Amino acid sequence: MSAVYDTIIIGAGIAGSATAYFLSQKGQKVLIIDKKGIASGGSGAAGAFVSPKIGKGGPLQSLTNEAFSFAKDFYLKHFPAYYHQSGVVRIPKDEEDAAKFSSYEPFNENSFTKLNVEELKELGIKVPFESFFFPEAGACDAPDMCRELLKGIDYIQYEIKEFALENGIWQLGDYQAKNVVLATGYENSLFDMRYMGVKGTWGTRGDFRSNLPLKVSMHQSMSVSANIDGMIRLGATHEKSIKVPVVCQDEQALGLKEKASTMVDTSDLELVETFCGMRAGSRDYFPLVGRVIDVPFMLETYPSIIRGATPELKYMENLYICNGLGGRGFVFGPLMGKYLAEYIIDGKGIDKRVNPDRLFFKWCRKILQSK
Ligand SMILES: Cc1cc2nc3c(=O)[nH]c(=O)nc-3n(C[C@H](O)[C@H](O)[C@H](O)COP(=O)(O)OP(=O)(O)OC[C@H]3O[C@@H](n4cnc5c(N)ncnc54)[C@H](O)[C@@H]3O)c2cc1C
Repeated sequence: MSAVYDTIIIGAGIAGSATAYFLSQKGQKVLIIDKKGIASGGSGAAGAFVSPKIGKGGPLQSLTNEAFSFAKDFYLKHFPAYYHQSGVVRIPKDEEDAAKFSSYEPFNENSFTKLNVEELKELGIKVPFESFFFPEAGACDAPDMCRELLKGIDYIQYEIKEFALENGIWQLGDYQAKNVVLATGYENSLFDMRYMGVKGTWGTRGDFRSNLPLKVSMHQSMSVSANIDGMIRLGATHEKSIKVPVVCQDEQALGLKEKASTMVDTSDLELVETFCGMRAGSRDYFPLVGRVIDVPFMLETYPSIIRGATPELKYMENLYICNGLGGRGFVFGPLMGKYLAEYIIDGKGIDKRVNPDRLFFKWCRKILQSK
């Protein structure tokens, strides 16, 4: 393995893997580094459902649905063996939510049909609410998908504790590169990137052996997958009180089984394995894709920033980020990886909705408020 690369990516979850894929498709020599292994963070815990967002519209819903459209086409075209297009039924949470579903309908930008209670029953779903069915949605085999994205790309298992720029080249231990992409998930602290507000939300999923002939996946306040090769995935919990990773708890997965019993017959589900991890979200729930601002320089050079000044931004040289994919890494990953590769190689502007710059001046003013 040669030690000099065009780009080194730190973090081999879906964000890093998708970025690596698009950079190498464009001819770059890429190295990806992960301290624990491919898909060893949140991406390995993910049920990896890939479905649209429903609701009353708005920028996050449109971006999510664009990303969904891109992701399912991308997976089907390039990695069909690792994307199970079972379709996903979106079930109202309760009577109140059911009453709102008709107002969500105009914002369903992806193909869908409505299923009544009888039709749901035929699919093995026992809920008393008319629901949306998105036939193009599905779920990925998360670690396999990351591994496939990285096929042919150099990978090493190694923990990056710090690294620096020397004569315009990033030095990471024995490895060197012109560009570095940070795709480290909830551990976003290799540089001062507090303005992005990345934080983790702990979650658990369980994989259960079952003979239940479920052909479709579904989501109410949790997800139940179709039965794929005798396994049904239940996910996921949102355990906000857990701030640092802990050992996976079977009780959490069994709690999901209990909750799923309001949707499907769970009587033969037998827990095989519990997975858990952090989802890394940004301050405003939009992804973070683009360059990294030189925060110490900006704060020292322009102290008036915290009083509302907005001087020109200075960035860390050739340092990029792909993060903040929240609970939808497998929906956002491909489009965000493509955006970043097009930015780094073709100089195409980063979509403002995901550019982390959006958060910087607001965060600076917050520093003042807290003083
Ligand atoms: C229980 C659960 C269920 C989920 N279900 C879904 C779902 O159904 N659909 C969906 O789309 N998304 C789902 N998600 C969300 C999805 O997992 C995340 O969006 C995704 O993990 C984000 O990927 P990432 O690459 O940004 O981060 P991660 O997957 O966390 O990857 C970051 C990687 O960086 C590595 N790293 C960090 N610091 C360093 C360092 N200093 N040196 C070297 N390596 C480092 C870590 O080891 C890790 O492997 C779920 C998440 C959880 C936890």
